[in-house]
Amino acid sequence: MTPARGTGSAPTGPLSAAADEALIRRAIEVAGAAPRTGDVPIGAVVVDAEGRELAVACNAREALGDPTAHAELLALRAAAAVRGEWRLEGCTLAVTVEPCTMCAGAIGLARVARVVFGAWEPKTGAAGSLWDVLRDRRQNHRPEVVGGVLEQECAALLESFFAGFR
Ligand SMILES: [Zn+2]
Repeated sequence: MTPARGTGSAPTGPLSAAADEALIRRAIEVAGAAPRTGDVPIGAVVVDAEGRELAVACNAREALGDPTAHAELLALRAAAAVRGEWRLEGCTLAVTVEPCTMCAGAIGLARVARVVFGAWEPKTGAAGSLWDVLRDRRQNHRPEVVGGVLEQECAALLESFFAGFR
């Protein structure tokens, strides 16, 4: 089963699709440039409503020995630090892989306006695959979600990492 793509009420057209791809390309770049720490290469970027980059981060669970050090969480924290407040209203978070439940929860708490991600993650994804925490109608804040952007490139990043363990 492939979850529906590009859902949400905000207008989506060629321009926004190109902008989303540019954000995912940036996230891929961040993941690829991460130091070799044994961490799964996942990159995230947060931009404000004007498209200005506030923060980038890569998954650093092994590097930091921290179970919560997912790329999204680290990027949200860094973006909030830059802004000087926890609310990231109007911001877009782009990440190479579908967010997990923890990150989806944090995205909601931060009031992020849009979430763009690359590869679907059927085992743990909480943005349409296993769960849809972000768009659950019981939530007060529901960001627009666009998944499957540059899906092949994002999946290839993970595949080449895991192939290294074989
Ligand atoms: Zn996560």
